[in-house]
Amino acid sequence: MSELRIIHEKCTLCERCVKACPFDALRVCDGLLRVGEECVLCGACVKICPEAALEVEEPVRSDSVSDLRRWRGVWVVVELSGEESGAGIVPVSCELIGRGRRLADALSTELSVVVMGHGLDHVAGDLCRFPLDRIYIVDHEELKDFISETHAAVLSELAGERKPEILLCGATANGRAFFPRTAALLHTGLTADCTGLEVDSRRRVLLQTRPAFGGNVMATIECPEHRPQMATVRPGVMARPDPGDARDVEVVAWQPSGALGCRRVQLLRKTVQQEGGANLSEADVIVAGGGGVGGAEGFEIIAELARALGGVVGASRAAVDSGWAPYAAQIGQTGRVVQPRLYVACGISGAVQHLVGMQSAETIVAINSDPGAPIFEVADFGFVGDLRAVIPRLIRTIEDDRRKKSR
Ligand SMILES: Cc1cc2nc3c(=O)[nH]c(=O)nc-3n(C[C@H](O)[C@H](O)[C@H](O)COP(=O)(O)OP(=O)(O)OC[C@H]3O[C@@H](n4cnc5c(N)ncnc54)[C@H](O)[C@@H]3O)c2cc1C
Repeated sequence: MSELRIIHEKCTLCERCVKACPFDALRVCDGLLRVGEECVLCGACVKICPEAALEVEEPVRSDSVSDLRRWRGVWVVVELSGEESGAGIVPVSCELIGRGRRLADALSTELSVVVMGHGLDHVAGDLCRFPLDRIYIVDHEELKDFISETHAAVLSELAGERKPEILLCGATANGRAFFPRTAALLHTGLTADCTGLEVDSRRRVLLQTRPAFGGNVMATIECPEHRPQMATVRPGVMARPDPGDARDVEVVAWQPSGALGCRRVQLLRKTVQQEGGANLSEADVIVAGGGGVGGAEGFEIIAELARALGGVVGASRAAVDSGWAPYAAQIGQTGRVVQPRLYVACGISGAVQHLVGMQSAETIVAINSDPGAPIFEVADFGFVGDLRAVIPRLIRTIEDDRRKKSR
């Protein structure tokens, strides 16, 4: 880490730096200038000191920075849906394996995955059905529960030792927590919440695309001078490869060098939030309600259609902001990105911020009273009409059909 160094032999205690510091981080104590925790290394004191008695010391740069060519390979951090053995691979990890393969092929390099946890005996068997070259398994008791400091310490040690040029992880709650810490430990950059990843194979630079300025522009971000190039990627925006037959994949059981354990964080208890949002990202069928639903009671009919189709309920921001549906159900730029087989949009206009969250659904059905609503531009099937009339007819048709089939 960078730090402010005081060269006491040069310091005359003139206190100009004390006055210049916008954060009150400098004070004279027992005849010496001292720096407190408030210091953010802004350098205001360094500039004002007439004796050059202050310096911001840059961290010793690892060879990672000076010799980019030593970093090779694409890595995906695979997350499991639970910590205990038997846990499945979360969908976004599969999506990243698909995209990671494409990036690795474009760079003529290898694709590896890293799994951290405890009781991971089954994981290599599940993963070797994907197009991988190597699986790093870090199985350690201290990784049983997710603690972001511990996961970041392990991943940064492994990446620092084996030197991948690209390191990817899903923008899940855990990924968002520990990946930035890992990037800081590796002294590299991170682009969070990407919706697109490509590669400039000539320069070996990862092109990381994400919405910026409230979603009004798509920014493509590069990290050309540091390695690894790190990105978290939104769930549901990339295609998921189908697992094939098991193939030969190198499996490396790796262990961190020192004791793990985190001094600052202790897990006291776990509470599972029962809001229904968790299964939205993995649902095959979603019936979503928007401003056209007209009220919280209007969501009963949405839930009824979801039940008839074996799906779950989603919502637009208009519905969530009105308090008709919980935030966990919100789909779109500031909600969840989903990729179901069937998406039924009821009373949703089709604003761009909603579309970014659902337009990769396999089949989109829209119900809207306005034939000019933009949702019809992305819909495969559309019903122009009042949802309070259309939905009950749809439910009756589905149930009649089911009855006929069961006879
Ligand atoms: C930075 C930013 C982030 C955002 N993030 C999100 C996000 O994550 N998700 C999101 O959804 N939005 C988001 N928004 C808001 C977005 O711009 C829209 O305001 C929002 O999607 C509108 O929701 P809606 O289409 O359900 O409601 P409305 O705009 O109110 O549209 C209602 C629709 O229902 C139709 N309708 C009305 N009555 C009926 C009826 N009886 N039967 C059938 N149809 C009917 C109307 O014709 C209309 O098309 C964001 C906006 C900003 C600026």
